[in-house]
Amino acid sequence: MASIYIETFGCQMNEADSQFIAERATAAGYAIAEKPHKASVVLLNTCTVRDNAERRAYGRMQHFKTLKRADPSMKLVVTGCLAEQDRHRMRTIAPHVDAVFGTKELGELADALTAWRPGFVEDECSEERSLLLPMGGQADCIADAFTHLRAYVTVQRGCSYYCTFCIVPHVRGRFDHRPTGDILAEVRQRIAQGAREITLVGQTVNAYKDPATGADFGDILGAVAQCDGLERLSFLTSHPKDFTQKLVLDMARISRLNPRLHLPIQSASNPVLRRMNRKYTIEAYMEKVAFLREHLCGWALTTDIIVGFPGESEEDFQKTLALCATNMFAQAYMFIYSPRRGTPASHWPQVDSALASDRLRSLAAVQDRSCREFHQRKVGSVVRALVQGPSRKDPTKLAAKTVDNVTVVAPLPPTLDAASFAAAPWVDVRVEASYTWGATGTMLARSHAFTEPGTLVPSPTLDLITL
Ligand code: SF4
Repeated sequence: MASIYIETFGCQMNEADSQFIAERATAAGYAIAEKPHKASVVLLNTCTVRDNAERRAYGRMQHFKTLKRADPSMKLVVTGCLAEQDRHRMRTIAPHVDAVFGTKELGELADALTAWRPGFVEDECSEERSLLLPMGGQADCIADAFTHLRAYVTVQRGCSYYCTFCIVPHVRGRFDHRPTGDILAEVRQRIAQGAREITLVGQTVNAYKDPATGADFGDILGAVAQCDGLERLSFLTSHPKDFTQKLVLDMARISRLNPRLHLPIQSASNPVLRRMNRKYTIEAYMEKVAFLREHLCGWALTTDIIVGFPGESEEDFQKTLALCATNMFAQAYMFIYSPRRGTPASHWPQVDSALASDRLRSLAAVQDRSCREFHQRKVGSVVRALVQGPSRKDPTKLAAKTVDNVTVVAPLPPTLDAASFAAAPWVDVRVEASYTWGATGTMLARSHAFTEPGTLVPSPTLDLITL
């Protein structure tokens, strides 16, 4: 049987696109391969938001060259923002890539998959290819048997805000909002396919405006929340400028909403925010967070921060550091500024790279304490979490995510295998230890639906006593 292996880099927009591709591929008769050496098509969905993401994508293309040498019938396909940006350059750097599709050519990509399908020989792994087993995926996300539990539904493409560091408007274009009816139809379809959690995604998701009616993001959240069978709802990524009081009040009316807001701050210094063209001040950001706390008490706040942005002084950096030291953020994605071709900030005098690295280390040390403290508060409680699949580090354990986005890892109960959790994917875990990355504990029960009481699972301790 023909199969497709999908590696995804970067943001949830790419994950949403990968889900679309996986769905079209399975409709065309492909199986989803969890290892590249077994696939007839290997697809890389790339990101270009930072230099590191670009280098990883080109590294993977070189890596897959060996697979193609072993089996020239395997097709290597590249899509995503790097494909959009480097379409011509890629032909020179990676001539073994069979096809490149930009972010607006997913329909053509799906058509190509369908066209290739009849030409594939039955799924057989040549001896030479089986020697290449160690080439496991190293992407941010690999499509597997649990992927359908979390569906990403795109509400908008592109962005019109032109932050001076960001490549997105240059490769994905300006805002293009989907009609509400299309979004609702896709949400219903995903629920019918087994999605337990729907995440509405857009580069600036809360700037959404229905092209015909002008309905805003709060309106669409409310409409999606009414869909039959929806268990949990989430959204990514919000811009502080559009995080209005109306939106908070709309959110407060939706009990199925996951209690986690990702609101990128980027810096706590106004001069830096101005140069970034972020369109808000630190005071405005704090006011919005205060309103959130007043109406949605207990929500986890997560953020993105860039250090070493051109012109960032020690004083600017200290403001960001001091804000993180207040334990305001349950989690922060922190990066050193990475110049992107064609963006204004790439032409400005750069902060010394050693200094930027020092700043990132100091910030990470402070923010890690904050993450650990957030996770520590869960120790001793029982959390309900949606399974992600076997732990990448130890397949005898299962990884799951709480509704406020904390990873919890617990040993698989005796007699239950990981695959059975795709059908009963909500697990109740007693949290016993916390770390910067998440928490560990013991699984007590599992259930088919978020609101159902859990059914007890075999306990490892009882098992030992029986023995
Ligand atoms: S809001 Fe700024 S950082 Fe976010 S996608 Fe748009 S331009 Fe990029």
